[in-house]
Amino acid sequence: MAEALEEGLFTLDDLPDSFPQLWESVSTNLPEITNENEAAHMNFLDDGDITTYDLLLKTEAAGDVVNPPSSLVPVTTDHSGEYGLELQFEKSGTAKSVTSTYSPLLNKLFCQVAKTSPVGIILSSDPPPGAVLRATAVYKKTEHVAEVVKRCPHHQSEDASENRSHLIRMEGSQLAQYFEDPNTKRQSVTVPYERPQVGSAVTTILISFMCNSSCMGGMNRRPILTILTLETPEGMVLGRRCFEVRVCACPGRDRKTEEENKMKTKPVKKKKNSSAPEASSAKKSKSGSSGEEEEKETYILTIKGRNRYLWFKTLNDGLELMDKEGGKKPKLEIPAPSSGKRLMRGQSESD
Ligand SMILES: [Zn+2]
Repeated sequence: MAEALEEGLFTLDDLPDSFPQLWESVSTNLPEITNENEAAHMNFLDDGDITTYDLLLKTEAAGDVVNPPSSLVPVTTDHSGEYGLELQFEKSGTAKSVTSTYSPLLNKLFCQVAKTSPVGIILSSDPPPGAVLRATAVYKKTEHVAEVVKRCPHHQSEDASENRSHLIRMEGSQLAQYFEDPNTKRQSVTVPYERPQVGSAVTTILISFMCNSSCMGGMNRRPILTILTLETPEGMVLGRRCFEVRVCACPGRDRKTEEENKMKTKPVKKKKNSSAPEASSAKKSKSGSSGEEEEKETYILTIKGRNRYLWFKTLNDGLELMDKEGGKKPKLEIPAPSSGKRLMRGQSESD
């Protein structure tokens, strides 16, 4: 169980560098998932498993988070915001012929260069008039994040269009606008948000990537994230979703390989996709620590309510990560959950 939790929640790459940051993000973003949002989340998954992605999405607050001041490095944390921004990808599978396919397990889109990937946009309510959707690419790794993602010189030189240096294009809209921030030089593209057609809950935007991940002088094999933001006409961010992108010749094959590699690292146990309370292993966290034995023992904590369960799961995983990294264990003051009920370490809340 502990292994399943470890594997099911985070990859080291995706995690904040230290537990305090993780904890802060948890404690300031307590999940307030409405039923509507929950439904949207379910749409998002294609296999019903609680994957890394699933949990990371769900632990995001739908609450009011003040916009961060615009920074040199784009923010890549998911934030569904008051309009409950969610993304939905097509279930394209891993056939050889597929030109674009999304892996919920990896939260990663695999696509061919210049081929269109439809991305569904789901909002829980109508955003302000004039709201736009913006796509920005950013390097995933810290050591590259300062560099602006652009097309490689070769692909740029082959293209006479005005936006030839932009990696990301939004297709199918005459209203797509291409931007380059005068200060940061980061490039992005926007389209006006349009309400879903009658009878549909999803607005689809069409994104394409105009270089391969391997392009020399461009991405040069460095992984990228795409940040999709819902913004007011004035550029205030209302919601944000991020996913990794690999642009390659064989998206189906590469997705399969990467997913298999991930599973190989540590087998992921199938998890129920039910709203029933699930048993969660809660590791006893003792600062100062006593016997090894006791530290390794598994404790079962039954938690009522899915939101709270996810919340605790995230906390537990942060601790698991600390253990993995051999980090120092922080003294944790566990704040009362939103209901006001206080839960003690290792204490069973029900039964
Ligand atoms: Zn290129």
